[in-house]
Amino acid sequence: PQQEVSKYLNSVEAMRNKSGNVGVWKHRKKDGTVIDAEITSQPLIFEGRPAKLVIAKDITERKQMEDAVRRSEERYRAFVEQSSEAIWCFEFEKPLFVEFSVEEQIEHAYQYGYLAECNDAMARLYGFNSADEILGAKLADMLVSSDPQNIEYLKAFIHSGYRLVDAETHEADKDGKIRCFLNNLIGVVEEGRVVRAWGLQRDITERKQAEEAMMRAKEAAEAANRAKSEFLANMSHEIRTPMNGIIGMTELLSDTPLDSEQREYLEMVRLSADSLLEIVNDILDFSKIEAGKFKLDLSAFSLQDTLGDTMKTFAPRAHEKGIELILHIAPLAPDSLTGDAVRLRQIVVNMLGNAVKFTESGEIALRVEVESQTQEEAVLHFSVRDTGIGIPPEKQRLIFEAFTQADASTTRKFGGTGLGLAISSRLVELMGGAIWVESEAGRGSTFHFTARFDVNQSMLQSDSALRGFSALIVDDNQTTLGILAESLEYWGANTALARGAAEALKETMQARVEGRSYDVAIVDAEMPGIDGLTLISLLKENPQTVRSAILLVSAVKGRSTSALGSDPFLACQLIKPVKPAELKAAMLRIANARDAQREKTSLAAKRTLLTAQRPLRVLLAEDNPVNRHLAVRMLERHGHQVVVANNGREAVEAFEQDSFDLILMDVQMPEMSGLEAAAVIRSRQSRAGRIPIIAMTAYAMKGDRERCLEAGMDDYVSKPVRAEELFRAIESVVNCGSVTEVI
Ligand code: ADP
Repeated sequence: PQQEVSKYLNSVEAMRNKSGNVGVWKHRKKDGTVIDAEITSQPLIFEGRPAKLVIAKDITERKQMEDAVRRSEERYRAFVEQSSEAIWCFEFEKPLFVEFSVEEQIEHAYQYGYLAECNDAMARLYGFNSADEILGAKLADMLVSSDPQNIEYLKAFIHSGYRLVDAETHEADKDGKIRCFLNNLIGVVEEGRVVRAWGLQRDITERKQAEEAMMRAKEAAEAANRAKSEFLANMSHEIRTPMNGIIGMTELLSDTPLDSEQREYLEMVRLSADSLLEIVNDILDFSKIEAGKFKLDLSAFSLQDTLGDTMKTFAPRAHEKGIELILHIAPLAPDSLTGDAVRLRQIVVNMLGNAVKFTESGEIALRVEVESQTQEEAVLHFSVRDTGIGIPPEKQRLIFEAFTQADASTTRKFGGTGLGLAISSRLVELMGGAIWVESEAGRGSTFHFTARFDVNQSMLQSDSALRGFSALIVDDNQTTLGILAESLEYWGANTALARGAAEALKETMQARVEGRSYDVAIVDAEMPGIDGLTLISLLKENPQTVRSAILLVSAVKGRSTSALGSDPFLACQLIKPVKPAELKAAMLRIANARDAQREKTSLAAKRTLLTAQRPLRVLLAEDNPVNRHLAVRMLERHGHQVVVANNGREAVEAFEQDSFDLILMDVQMPEMSGLEAAAVIRSRQSRAGRIPIIAMTAYAMKGDRERCLEAGMDDYVSKPVRAEELFRAIESVVNCGSVTEVI
């Protein structure tokens, strides 16, 4: 290029006139690469004549290195000067030896450390405009030496080998205002001396202030939440106490002679009280979950019993509407589990309750399938399917939120608080599962949830207890037929299905012709056309073809089918929806000995055990007159003899003067609480004469049960006290010699 040529000509000219370095020329080597050559010329006499010695030296590599250094310098400058982050270098006027003690090093740093280099951003952090104004500042003037956090900072720097990440310091700015900085620094150590330290620094004062404000707000909110939950617990207690009176008195009143109008009114009182109690419980649950105070209460339970018994409580309501209730538990699902059965029941009750509420006809099926299973745990998939009004797609997500309902107008028609599904979804979360809904407006909904449980006894091995057994199943509902057949076939039985009495009769006729027979006919009581009882009496005429029958009845209050009770052909009646274990037990009874009669009597004997208890002398401590009266009446009705105490002190006195079989102790009482009284009684009794004490309390918070047990009580019933619950508790503590075993 022209430029290179003129540079070359200039050098030639220079070479003529002077000696030494005359320039850098570009040379092309034989292989074509271009190199930089430094040219020096030296005058000399050659063969008697003045001449020039010209030396060309390849300096390509040196030039590249110089370029690299220049670029690095340039880069450093650009970064440091343009950075919004403060960059600094501290040096020490006197050497800082690493072998000094930590205290000496800190002292030394404060005394001799000064700011040797920094950018403008650093100056701005301290309220100056440019680096020049702050350079040379002593460390002691910048780091607040009395601040313990700064001392920690220096200590950490020394301990960590002169290297720190995200360390906080407190430093004074130009106006003496303390600011909080975040530092990343590294010390340069040469031959046992810390020569200098480089660092990056950022102002986090505002961020810290915001964090602190947030922390304070969070603490305040938590305190408010705690107060709210305490308040709700107290309110619930206050409401439960009079509710105890209302519900209990209603129970007592309904056992007295009443005319039908009075009975109807009383039933309304009972329903209203029950639903009020449900609302109080929902609100209490929800507030506990929201306050993070809720814990699952784990214990062993039977899946079939929990779901089957829960479902049966819906039978009367479903029957009234003509809805078929179906329970289908996959045969492989483990039955003996550990988990919170009460809360599982609560979720299922909410879903079944909604299903019955929003369905006018058709069927409601509760299904359980195994999603995954190991020896130790199982994830079960529950679903409740109905054929009701359904939920439009845009509302399906909303209904899981608290206080929301799909449609305000249906709410007026059906009632409800909108809390049920919100509580259920929190409970499902605690059980390690998920909850969701599938629904089509006008056609029905299926609510699903999954939950994780510990498995106590796995059902992985197949079960063929009914091999060779044959059953004819008669039901007008296709789903029920399918489920019964699935269970029976799983146990090894042969099945034939009939969708009604007519089909069943046709099949038995055919069987008689072919010389086949059935061990049992399982017959639905309610079928259109010929009903179950009629069908059974027809089948009975031909005992060679069908040997016995099981009648499936709906649980309808007040209806008695005992007329058939003693008929040997009718092996038993099962209440719909049938639990698989019940069905299996019934079948095994028939299969094994056909001594149904004996089984029935032993079963009947078991049922009466609950009520046939010896009369007890009971000490009752209760301060509320209504509740006291109520408990006395409940106990006296069961033939027990009651002595009352109005508070804990009176209870202790009575205990010392008299002898009792049992003490029922209210917890909240004036003068001396139930907890104190129980503790005093426990301390004064002899070990041999340990008297059972049952607590009655309106507090339903978790931990109350533990507190009662700690105080030495043996069991606990929560108010409102239901007669059945109370007598079950009494039976368990009185019949067991050593009460601690029960707990
Ligand atoms: P509640 O039933 O007390 O109002 P939930 O949280 O249990 O509260 O239910 C919320 C809403 O979801 C109900 O009000 C109803 O609109 C809707 N919903 C729940 N289950 C069903 C169902 N099976 N069929 C139709 N709608 C339902």
